[in-house]
Amino acid sequence: MAHGLDAQASTRSILVSFLFALRYSCYLSKGFSTACGSLMAKLIKRSRRSYSAITTLIAAASGAVLVTVVTGLLVYNNTQQLISANKWVEHTQEVLSTLQRASLLTERIEYRSRLFLLTGDEDQLNRARTAANQLVTSATHLKTLVSDNPDQAGNVEKLANGSDELVKALDGFNKQSELPTLEIQHCQQIVSVMTDTEQSLLKQRDERSQRSIFTSVTTEAGAVGLWLLTSAVLLAFLVRDAMRRERVERKIKFTNQHLEQSVKALEDRAQEATLLTAARDELQLCMDVQQLYGSASRRLSFLLPETSGSLCMIDNSRQVVEVVSFWGTTTVDDFNPPEACCGLRSGQPRWRQPGLSEIHCTHFTGEAPECYVCVPIAAHGSTLGVLYVQCADEAAVQAVNRRMDGLRQLLQILAMSVATLNLQSKLENQSIRDALTGLFNRHFMQISLDRELSRAARKKQSLAVLMLDMDHFKRFNDTHGHAAGDAGLQGLANVLKSSIRPEDIACRYGGEEFTILLPDITVEAAYQRAETILQAVSHMSVSVGSQTYSAFTISIGIALYPNDGETPEQLLRCADEALYRSKRQGRNQATIYENIPTTR
Ligand code: GH3
Ligand code: MG
Ligand code: MG
Repeated sequence: MAHGLDAQASTRSILVSFLFALRYSCYLSKGFSTACGSLMAKLIKRSRRSYSAITTLIAAASGAVLVTVVTGLLVYNNTQQLISANKWVEHTQEVLSTLQRASLLTERIEYRSRLFLLTGDEDQLNRARTAANQLVTSATHLKTLVSDNPDQAGNVEKLANGSDELVKALDGFNKQSELPTLEIQHCQQIVSVMTDTEQSLLKQRDERSQRSIFTSVTTEAGAVGLWLLTSAVLLAFLVRDAMRRERVERKIKFTNQHLEQSVKALEDRAQEATLLTAARDELQLCMDVQQLYGSASRRLSFLLPETSGSLCMIDNSRQVVEVVSFWGTTTVDDFNPPEACCGLRSGQPRWRQPGLSEIHCTHFTGEAPECYVCVPIAAHGSTLGVLYVQCADEAAVQAVNRRMDGLRQLLQILAMSVATLNLQSKLENQSIRDALTGLFNRHFMQISLDRELSRAARKKQSLAVLMLDMDHFKRFNDTHGHAAGDAGLQGLANVLKSSIRPEDIACRYGGEEFTILLPDITVEAAYQRAETILQAVSHMSVSVGSQTYSAFTISIGIALYPNDGETPEQLLRCADEALYRSKRQGRNQATIYENIPTTR
């Protein structure tokens, strides 16, 4: 029964390990179930506490591994128990079969002995002796088989002794001998007792085997169920995490898209800001409004790509709107009245777009386009003009709308620049120009004379100074009135403006006296210019109301730098003296100072 002891020891060790494992698994499964419960609670209540999906997965996977190990141990243990129980059953059956054989042998011994006594057949006796020897062998075998059972060991010992005695009895057996009934019955009794004991053991072991089978089946079913449950929980975690990941991915995707749009919008803003800064810098550098308009159009084409447009400004009469600059190709030309533009009429940016507003402006030379916007340009509460922007498609409309703030700012800068330049020009005119004639005033003439003389000296050039005075102007004034006199002065100023070169400077010296500075000119050319002016004045006519006045004449005195003088005072005095001579010699003529006799 050595292998029986080994099996017992291994079963014990497995049981101990199983108990440890069970205890540990209980401990872990308690933690695991707590974690699961907590997780489920979180899933249901959507707890605010942040939860790590990785921790959950690790916990679930650990739980699954643990369950698998524990169930494996249980199944292994059950199998071992089952094997052990089966071995015990087989062992008992072997004992029983040996006992059955022993019983048969005793019966055979009796039967053969009786036949020998009846027939005297030696062969029967020999067979009885062989059976007795076999009985001894069976007893020895039984001794080995039941060595683990003290009761049965005692019985076997008795059986062995009984069989030995039977062998001895048969050894001296002859026809006269008595049948060894007592020995045979003794052996049969022992065999019967042993058989009963083994039957009882077989029953117990059979029941134990059945129990082991039941336990094994139940355990395995439970293990399968537990494994399925664990797998289901793990799957639930995985599905939940997959769904959560998908949700997070969707959220990230949405956030990325949002971020992309924001970055794009920011980039657009930054580009717009750069454009506006560059536009403001450039517009501030412009010296006159024409330059300003050209620059504004260029900047607007950068700010509003994919569009065409016209910058339209209201003229001084405030009746006509002039296209002062444009970009792309537009069908807008000068128009009147300003109200032809719906934007100007409403005083605010106005979109014409299908579905938004169907009414067209009437300032188009050809067919009106589908989509356009008219943005009024105003400064200091006064409307200066309108910006017309034409869009080819809906995308261009969207782009313009996105940059509407920038557009407003640029137009504001433009309007302020126009207003500033106009104001500057007005102030400049007021300080250096004569209000009645528009010619430069005496103050400016004196500054200019200083500057021109320095330049002439530096470049070694000549400079002519012409002094002009209207003839008998007092009389004209007295006869026709001051308004007619003013008209005469304006008429003369216009003649002077149209009779001089761009580099010449015509000024109203005072009253009805005028001065012209002619740089880099010969005395002949200066005189020729004076003659031309005299001719033009003689043909001049002015109107005041229904009255027209003509037959004006003037007298001119000419002095030349450096011949007649080198300072402004000298030259003006010489020119005045020459003028005086023209007056004295009958007016309506020009006199060169150097031709005046020295005896004067
Ligand atoms: P002469 O041919 O000698 O120059 O004769 P004159 O009458 O022109 O002589 P004078 O220079 O004395 O007269 C100048 C007149 O010009 C006096 C004034 O009535 C007139 N006058 C001066 N300034 C103005 C002005 O701004 N408007 C008008 N309407 N008349 C002016
Ligand atoms: Mg005068
Ligand atoms: Mg005069």
